[in-house]
Amino acid sequence: MARASTRTAFINATVLPFDKQWRVLEECDVVVADGRIAALGKNAVARQTVDRRIDATHLVITPGFVNAHTHSPENLARGLADGLGLDDWLGSVWRSLDRLDADGIRLAAQLGCIEMIRSGTVAVVDHFRQYPPRLDAVDTVAQAYQDAGLKALIAVWLRDAVGPRNRANNAERQIEVCAEAARRWHKPEQGLRIGVGPSAPTRCTDELLSGAGALAREADLSFHIHVDETKEEAGEARKRYGSTAVRHLRDLDLVWPGLSIAHGVWQTDADLRILARGGAGIVHNPMSNMRLGSGIARLDAMREAGVLVALGTDGAASNDSQNILEAAKAAAFLQRLSVQDRRRWPSTLDALVMLTHAPATMFGLTEGVLKAGGRADFVAFDRRSVALAPGNDLHRQIVLCHTALTVRFSVIAGRLVLDDGRLTTIDEAAILREAAARRPKRGRHARRH
Ligand SMILES: [Zn+2]
Repeated sequence: MARASTRTAFINATVLPFDKQWRVLEECDVVVADGRIAALGKNAVARQTVDRRIDATHLVITPGFVNAHTHSPENLARGLADGLGLDDWLGSVWRSLDRLDADGIRLAAQLGCIEMIRSGTVAVVDHFRQYPPRLDAVDTVAQAYQDAGLKALIAVWLRDAVGPRNRANNAERQIEVCAEAARRWHKPEQGLRIGVGPSAPTRCTDELLSGAGALAREADLSFHIHVDETKEEAGEARKRYGSTAVRHLRDLDLVWPGLSIAHGVWQTDADLRILARGGAGIVHNPMSNMRLGSGIARLDAMREAGVLVALGTDGAASNDSQNILEAAKAAAFLQRLSVQDRRRWPSTLDALVMLTHAPATMFGLTEGVLKAGGRADFVAFDRRSVALAPGNDLHRQIVLCHTALTVRFSVIAGRLVLDDGRLTTIDEAAILREAAARRPKRGRHARRH
């Protein structure tokens, strides 16, 4: 990721550093240089030489957010297959997405980048599915993230227990694709990581799960996997293993801090204790869980057990947006329908932790707090917007009001990728024209319901 060599100062901002005290710093300067926050505080710019001064009197600056679970090819399938549960939905949506050409993969990733950057995301975990997994596809998506300037963990999606068996999709071959992808693209210092991403325990052989785990430990890669998304899936694991999916992962020695589980809707208290003890995390995807009717994840139990929880949008075909702030609002509210005890409801500050602090620990792409000397990954909201008026409680309003529309700046690894509302790394109009040209041809009176 290219770094700006210029020193940029945001002057007179309101800064929410997301520190332990959840302070609100008024009239605060933020100076960015060499990918870092060179200075932060009142009149901090006075002691600095800078190339560019941005009047930030109307801006509220916070750490950038992490979208900890999505599947970028689905950006071409928004708004399709509504009203289906997971299994029918998978069959309906992915038939046309599994073998995208390079242009399709790039375009899908760029569409996601546009929406994520515009709604405050600075880093994404892309559980990147193409079946069977292909190196050229990983090359294309990795290049797209590098060009866009969005930090990314590309967890290469793997699956060998469903579908036809042949040389192209056996466990050994798929793990080799991952290993080579890591050799080419695993560059943590540049904000780009490769991970192994088995689809789900019951969709993979133990040979693949163990092999992927061995590679992850050897090359220091994340291990990202769907677990217990639906009740049926949890039941299938019990039938197959005679125990739960999490206990099976533990038996394969796969529960360690590198493990992150997408969904975990149907886990038992014992499962959550195993994950907490092993230092593994869960990515909660409330919008997708609602869209597919998968269930209400037990966020209160996860947090009580001490499991790290991050938030994901999930793919755009089961959400259908990539706006992580929607997921944060849903995470804060959805629990309140299933948990009677108000003391166990997640607060908006808990939602902000899930957007920043927790994924920083889980994936290492970001730091999740703003401080002098820290990494410069932050966003600036426009305080003059309806969403932030009249400014009663800025932390709460960022989660609960429609703030995604008010993001004016995004700084990722010190680079201004969104500059006063303009994307600097992506030709947005050209991408949207290209997307419109790919729209499936239908009759003028398409079916509505
Ligand atoms: Zn998913």
